[in-house]
Amino acid sequence: MAVKVEKYIINMDFSQGESGYSGNETIILSNDSQIIEMDSKGIDILNLKINDVAAKFQYSDDKKKLIINGTESGSLKIEIDFRRSYSESLAGLYLAGQGSKRIITTQFESTDASLAFPCFDRPDAKAIFEISMKIPGDREAIGNMPIKSVKKDGEYNVVEFLPTPVMSTYLLYMGVGKFKTKSVKYKNIEITLAIPGEELTSNDFPLEIASKCLEFYENYFGIPFELPKVHLISVPDFAAGAMENWGAITFREEALVCNDNTDLDSRINIGVTIAHELAHQWFGNLVTMKWWNDLWLNESFATFMEMLCLNTIHPEYDVIKSTYLSQTVSSMTSDSLKSTHPINAKVDSPDDIQQIFDEISYGKGGSILRMIHNYVGDDNFRKGVSAYLNKFRYGNAEGSDLWNSIGEVSKLPVGDIMSDWINQPGLPAIRVTPSGKKLKLEQRRYFMNDQHSDLVWRIPLSVKGSKGTKNILMDEKSMEINLGDYVKLNSDGNGFFRVIYEEEFYTNLKDKVQFFSDIDRAEIVNDAYSLLLSGKMTVDKYFRILNDLMPGVTTPVITLVQRNLDSAMSILFDRENFRSKATGLLKTILKELGEKSQDEESLRSITREKIKETLSLYDHDFAASNAVHFGEYFDSPPEGRQALALSKATTSDNIEDLKITYSKAKDDTDRNKLIIAMGSMKGKKNHKALMKMVMKGEIKRQDSPWAVISLIRNPDSRKFMLGIFKYVISAIRKEFAGTGFGAQAMQISIPLLGIVNEKKTRKLASLLNGPDVSQGSIKRSGNA
Ligand SMILES: [Zn+2]
Repeated sequence: MAVKVEKYIINMDFSQGESGYSGNETIILSNDSQIIEMDSKGIDILNLKINDVAAKFQYSDDKKKLIINGTESGSLKIEIDFRRSYSESLAGLYLAGQGSKRIITTQFESTDASLAFPCFDRPDAKAIFEISMKIPGDREAIGNMPIKSVKKDGEYNVVEFLPTPVMSTYLLYMGVGKFKTKSVKYKNIEITLAIPGEELTSNDFPLEIASKCLEFYENYFGIPFELPKVHLISVPDFAAGAMENWGAITFREEALVCNDNTDLDSRINIGVTIAHELAHQWFGNLVTMKWWNDLWLNESFATFMEMLCLNTIHPEYDVIKSTYLSQTVSSMTSDSLKSTHPINAKVDSPDDIQQIFDEISYGKGGSILRMIHNYVGDDNFRKGVSAYLNKFRYGNAEGSDLWNSIGEVSKLPVGDIMSDWINQPGLPAIRVTPSGKKLKLEQRRYFMNDQHSDLVWRIPLSVKGSKGTKNILMDEKSMEINLGDYVKLNSDGNGFFRVIYEEEFYTNLKDKVQFFSDIDRAEIVNDAYSLLLSGKMTVDKYFRILNDLMPGVTTPVITLVQRNLDSAMSILFDRENFRSKATGLLKTILKELGEKSQDEESLRSITREKIKETLSLYDHDFAASNAVHFGEYFDSPPEGRQALALSKATTSDNIEDLKITYSKAKDDTDRNKLIIAMGSMKGKKNHKALMKMVMKGEIKRQDSPWAVISLIRNPDSRKFMLGIFKYVISAIRKEFAGTGFGAQAMQISIPLLGIVNEKKTRKLASLLNGPDVSQGSIKRSGNA
């Protein structure tokens, strides 16, 4: 390496109002090259000295690099005075919120620390950071580390922070504003909830979760949390769901703030998001990927750990099942298309990073970790991860280092298996044929439409029997196993593949149901749904399978059925037969679920509301009877508000009532429900009215994708959206530039636009891959 950075001493000056900021930094490094290239995007350099002597420098043509020629070898001290305006997008150093909630905040992942100050903006250029911030006297500053000292300077304060441990630039944080805070202690670690403005709008739920998560991870990894404190900061306008800055984690308001307006689904999301970001404090922050090609692993791992963690501290949330549904099921759908790609993507430049931020990297990545976890067992998995974290502590590592570590502990071929799953595109389907006392298994790549491929995977297989489950490794194209007490393949949906059974399996479903777990049922339903969409299963047969699996039905299956029917109705909106069958089934389930009881399990009440939401969209009578209660929106339980707003939207031809309610909402969770409802209305004037709210800034920048997506999803406004989509994309690209969140959100809706005009849609989709929409870290479709 030409340059090895040891330390940055950075003094930021935020005393110049909103016009911009300035700063000076001293970088201590060792160098063995005649040219030093620093990352520095759009920053004005006022002075530059090397070892106390003024030095010549130039900008690259695109003004993204600062180039210093004729440097000497050895230990160098570079001093730079710089100035910049705040970033206009939600990346780098930017201004967020209005009035007393106005704050200066940062979002640096993946390569946007260099939007804030000149640096070597690579994950493997780790260094110590000593940071100070000059801020107005009535504001506070938050950094990665605790405050070392505060010195008065006229009407300003200079806040100096303790030095950070050795860390990557993308994990730095700087925040300035008026914050209401509340702290608790876990051991000696201070956990602080920080909310901009005059009011602490959240209860203690986030603090309690964070405290329990820290305890869980310390025990699981066998490594203590390395910093003396951690902040949980609510950011009024934020591109991703949350960001794991070391010791100063930032969140969208709805992913952190919990109060009386928070429904259970949102509450679980808050828990999941906190658990995710805290997992990164070890996996990602303490040990960091060498380069962005392993970003998928960083995210998949945190997504997998959030599930293990929350399942331990709040088992009643049943997140293992909901993670299966949201991750495995949805990524299997995209991975069954010809257009899918391997998880392992080539990332040459930061602009390529966007290519690896999609359902495949996150959902499939997480599902494969779950498959490996099941294959090696929790104890081996934990020991392997712990050894890996200890070995590369404060350093950088690659995916293969982790597989080797888990492989060494478990003595199983983890590296070989992972290589198949991350380097090959798509997923296999296993055809099961019983013959005498044997069961014949045959694998072949699964496609939604008729394609062919000779790829073979090494598949960890769990075979469910009436007396228990057996784990085997299928490492060739076909194999035979003893029939024994066989009931079904892929027990509990642990593997990332589809199963195609003989006709007989489906005709005898009722006899086997007693052996099925919730996820077993969900898995059968989901494979059938895929066959339905690809035209390989009839509507009648699909509903027959549903009816057989429904008795004694459990909530995860209902959730999956509801989701599948919901999306099928949005795609097949002109097929009256499907619609009436689907709404009929949902109404029956709703009746069976009954009214909410005091002590019911959490997933059940969420499922009930999701069904009501779907019915509000597709069943006019249901919506009409529900809509009459819209006037009591804020007095009704938070769980029922989305269905209420949707019912109002689908039965009214005037957006005004929804707009007025939107203007009265106090929390982002309510605002989002109302945006989604407004996007579900009929009538072009209403569609235009919602887009006008987006363009006029009446809807926060961070939430504009929800408005766009709900309009695209709406069969009545799809044509209108196709007409303006090019314009919408460029607007969203600008606001989300550098974060990637906008493009990711838009990608989800592209297939729906294709129903109107496939050719035009493909052209529009290519616009999303332009180079200036580089991606940030996004957790949960998405969150970082
Ligand atoms: Zn993450």
